[in-house]
Amino acid sequence: MSKKTLIQLQKLLDHMTYYNSMAPFPVFDTDYVKEIENKIIKMKEDKTNYDEEPVLACRYCNNLHIVVDDVDNNICFRCNSVNEIQEFKTIFEWEEKENKRKSNNR
Ligand SMILES: [Zn+2]
Repeated sequence: MSKKTLIQLQKLLDHMTYYNSMAPFPVFDTDYVKEIENKIIKMKEDKTNYDEEPVLACRYCNNLHIVVDDVDNNICFRCNSVNEIQEFKTIFEWEEKENKRKSNNR
């Protein structure tokens, strides 16, 4: 069984943990980092195959890291676009777009 969704989440967590450790004060909200950490632990424990679940990403930069604010706006953590969300049937579909995006940037 593939664990692509988990790998992406783990990457995000590593990224945030790294920047928080480099900066004199946390760049990313430490409660939020903890929340992601707990989510990964829960996902590892349960039997759901998350790679079969739909994923949401930013329409512009294809970032999977979407934060929901207090009034239910979906905000892209990378480019700050608001409610510009694209849904993919699975992480594999997302990955296809991501690979295309990367090769276009080269
Ligand atoms: Zn974005």
